[in-house]
Amino acid sequence: MSHPQRARQRTALAYEIAADPHWASAGATRLAGALELPGRRASRTNAGTPYNLSVYDLALELDRAIEEFAHRHGHGAEVPTGRTALANYAATLVEASDDARLDYDQLRLTHDLRAALTIGDADEILGKCVCPACLCWSLIGTRTPAGDWAATCRILRCATEPGTPRVITLAEVARHHITHRDDVAA
Ligand SMILES: [Zn+2]
Repeated sequence: MSHPQRARQRTALAYEIAADPHWASAGATRLAGALELPGRRASRTNAGTPYNLSVYDLALELDRAIEEFAHRHGHGAEVPTGRTALANYAATLVEASDDARLDYDQLRLTHDLRAALTIGDADEILGKCVCPACLCWSLIGTRTPAGDWAATCRILRCATEPGTPRVITLAEVARHHITHRDDVAA
């Protein structure tokens, strides 16, 4: 491997958030308007408050996604349980095949995007991704009617019809970003 492990060692944002006493506290996220969050580092003195289900769910969703990834690429082998064992197993699968690497990187970016949007701190990560349709840096985080996070392209000409902005799933944004990330360097 010419570039082993690269950025993959970084802890997933969902896990970082779930481990952060501030974000893990009840009421730290506001589903109605994450972007309105004021100072994101509030006091850490409220450790006794109930766990915040919203950020806890982010970590659980990522656990599930990595488990599914392991089943997809493990060729029927038994998938270990536990976050650390699962992460280590996923890392071996990633090193073993390019398909698995692409799949994993897309999965991680999708979940990092969702986690960042949930805590209202997605400007940087979303700002690195172009709209898959018009290739502009024009994406903002929005919610679908079902309540999941998505990205909306602000370019009027990219609208699917007049007055209806193009909405892209986070998975599509991530897939486009990961499959084209080497274009500039090539
Ligand atoms: Zn667009």
